[in-house]
Amino acid sequence: MKLLIASTNRHKVKEIGQLLAELPIALVSLSEFPHVTEVEEDGETFRENAIKKATSYAQQTGYFTLAEDSGLTVDALSGAPGIYSARYAGVHKSDLENCDKLLKALKEIPHDKRSAQFRCAAVLSDSSGVVLEVVEDKVDGLIYHQMSGLGGFGYDPLFFYPQFGKTFGEITSELKHSVSHRGKVLRKLKEILKKRMVEFSKSGG
Ligand code: IMP
Repeated sequence: MKLLIASTNRHKVKEIGQLLAELPIALVSLSEFPHVTEVEEDGETFRENAIKKATSYAQQTGYFTLAEDSGLTVDALSGAPGIYSARYAGVHKSDLENCDKLLKALKEIPHDKRSAQFRCAAVLSDSSGVVLEVVEDKVDGLIYHQMSGLGGFGYDPLFFYPQFGKTFGEITSELKHSVSHRGKVLRKLKEILKKRMVEFSKSGG
C-alpha cells in the first residue's frame, strides 16, 4: 500500500515518516507530483484545512492521502498565531522571524501567563477523496522568554514543556514525539491504519 503525505513542509514530512516508520506502507511525498495545484489553506480551523488538503490532493493524485494542519495557540494572544502560525510574521518569513514576533508580542506577559498549545489535526482520505478518519490532539506548554535549543523546527525553541523543564528545541526528536501534538495524533492514526490494512487484506484487496 502507498500513502501520500500531503505536506511541503520537509520538517513535518520527516516527523511523520519517523512516526509511521514501522508500518509496511510506502510513503510518497508531494514533491513526486510537481504538477499538482497547491491547495489554499483558507479554512477557519486546523481541521478544515487538513480536510481540504487531504481530499484535494487525493483527488488530484489518486492516492490514499494523509494531510495534517498544525500550529501554535497562545492563550494571552486569544489563540494567535493559530492557523496562521506558518505565516505569523508574513508570507515567506522564516521560523526565526516568527519566533521573534511572538517574543515581542509577549514581552510584558509574565512566565505563568504564557500558556500555549501545539495543536494538530490529521486527516486520512481514500484515493477518491472520501474522508476516512479525522484525528486531533494537542500538547500544553509555556512560551519561554527566549529561544533555547537548536532541535526541531518552527516554534520548538520557544515551546517550554514544564514536565521536562526544557523547550522542544532542547530535546531529541524521540522525546518530542513521545508527548507532542503530532506524536499523539500519528500514534492514533498508525493503529487505525494497521486495522484498515488487515481489513483490506481480508477483503482480498
Ligand atoms: P502548516 O503547514 O500551515 O500546518 O503550518 C504549521 C506551522 O505551525 C509551522 O510552520 C510551524 O510554524 C508551526 N508548527 C506546527 N507544528 C510544529 C512543531 O511541532 N514544532 C514547532 N512549530 C510547529
